[in-house]
Amino acid sequence: MVKVLHQMGARVVGALLAGLQAKGLSVPPGSAGRFRVSKKGNLLLDEKLLLASDTARTLGCETPEAVLELLRSSLSDEAASEIHQVLCSPPGGKEPRQITALDFVAKPPEELAEKIWPVFEAKHMAHSQELAAYAEEVFRDLPAGPPENARAVARARCRPKPEDLTFRYDGAVCLAVCSACGFTLAFSASVGRHLPGHPKNSSLGQDKDELSDLAGKALSRRLAEAGLPGKLEGLAREVKAALAERICLPEVYRWLKVLDSVASGIQKGSIRWQGSGWVVASFSLPSADPTYLVEYFERRTKEVLSLPSTPLEGLREVLRRFWEGSGRKVWEKAEALHSALSPIMKALPEVRRSYENMRRFAEALSEGRIRVTGEGQCFVGNECLKQFDGQTLARILDRLFSAFERAVQQNMAFGLSDEQVPAEILNRLLPAPGQKGGEKLDREVVLEVLRLLAARPKKMGATTVAAVLAGSRAKKVSDRGFDKLPSFGRFKGLYTQQELVRVVERMVRAGLVAETYVGVHGLRVLYLPREVEKALLSSLSSEEGTLEVEDARVKRAARAIQKHSWGELAEMARDGFFPAEAALAAAAALWPSGKAPKLLKELRTQKL
Ligand SMILES: [Zn+2]
Repeated sequence: MVKVLHQMGARVVGALLAGLQAKGLSVPPGSAGRFRVSKKGNLLLDEKLLLASDTARTLGCETPEAVLELLRSSLSDEAASEIHQVLCSPPGGKEPRQITALDFVAKPPEELAEKIWPVFEAKHMAHSQELAAYAEEVFRDLPAGPPENARAVARARCRPKPEDLTFRYDGAVCLAVCSACGFTLAFSASVGRHLPGHPKNSSLGQDKDELSDLAGKALSRRLAEAGLPGKLEGLAREVKAALAERICLPEVYRWLKVLDSVASGIQKGSIRWQGSGWVVASFSLPSADPTYLVEYFERRTKEVLSLPSTPLEGLREVLRRFWEGSGRKVWEKAEALHSALSPIMKALPEVRRSYENMRRFAEALSEGRIRVTGEGQCFVGNECLKQFDGQTLARILDRLFSAFERAVQQNMAFGLSDEQVPAEILNRLLPAPGQKGGEKLDREVVLEVLRLLAARPKKMGATTVAAVLAGSRAKKVSDRGFDKLPSFGRFKGLYTQQELVRVVERMVRAGLVAETYVGVHGLRVLYLPREVEKALLSSLSSEEGTLEVEDARVKRAARAIQKHSWGELAEMARDGFFPAEAALAAAAALWPSGKAPKLLKELRTQKL
């Protein structure tokens, strides 16, 4: 066989293309050049396996002439049309499927064919009859009836005749195919028994789907021609207008969605026959008659619009009254607490989130602002409300305030500046002695960790931070020059490294310090989130201007670090910008022979 295909070369391709043309499939020019016979004797199309050398042998072709004849005259319609589709798309656009023995029409042994026919005939008839009944059902509402050229329609009408029966055969499986309608059944080639699970069997479900699809498209066209989509859009506009200043029952919002989705479903032709009726966008149409449908949708819309509803203005008034009565006082309490928090505390994610939720709710209350979603849910701030009365509003406001208080309480250790907090609030927030969460957490340690990380040392994890603060003599500290940092040994003898690690981890959990993983080993490295860095700057140098100024300085310092402009950093440090000094110190430690150590020394001498 290897030799056979090789000897024939171009003739193999010629025979295959002639076979396609004989079936009325015109081949684009240049098609022949896309085929190649490989060294192993396989036929390739676009360098993908199309026909393996041993397939022809399975079919009993031993001579070159037999192979050519097979390709020219025996390829199944299905396989031929697949190859044709590949050739009609550009090379690489559509991948060819490997052709097997089952893709060639062949004659099985006489006795096998005789055994197969009665079973084939009975099953084909049953398939056709059921399909015909289904077509009757599905096209009942459509005056035009099913299209003549559809495959499933032809199959429903086909009456199998022995002379229409063709076979494809590979020694294990024998496919019986009705050449009139393409109905296919698989049989075992050895005993001629039907193989019910074989994927090549024609599927009744698929044929029904095709009919349902055709009928749905036909109905869509009919309804569109009758102007139903435009009518539905008009009704949808009416409902929308009625909803504008009112809150209605959920049914109304659902009905609006039905009007919208049925209108667009009809335009897209996506109506389907399901079970015993027409369905479009999961809505069951009560009829297929355009006149009836127009009446039906008009009547339902009228019904829906007559359902009880509440004017929004009345509800807004409830909000405003509650705000003036008691809401404002609760909010003022929250505001007082918030303004007493240090900038770092305000920057903590949990604190920020809970405060923001409360602020939005309070703002909406004071302005009487209600947002209604497409599902008819009512939102005041971030809160979804089912009822509008003073009691409900008070309950929500209290819940939001407690959440904010709790967030503050749980993060007390991170930067509440004691002197600014009214004693009344402080007493409520501080955990009682011996109570859980009352462990000692030195604010100085927290600030020092922040200072250290604000200097942006490279690749520092929690244990390294703790080692630096504890003044460790470990190699990983001294090798990277961390023992030259200002924070080095700040808490030597006061805290163990383990205690310091615990503080750092708590800061990570609170969102005050962020973590990331770098390098091939996924080393865990700590850094300050932007919000915290900004807050830190304003709390460390509170006499300096606004956050915007600080932000500009952070950017300037970061640029200077990137460019190794140590002179610029020194200048910023002289102006009292602490992070610049820290960065300069880090640079001095990392490049001891560079310019940074000299500048740092000058700076510190000046300070003395
Ligand atoms: Zn048939």
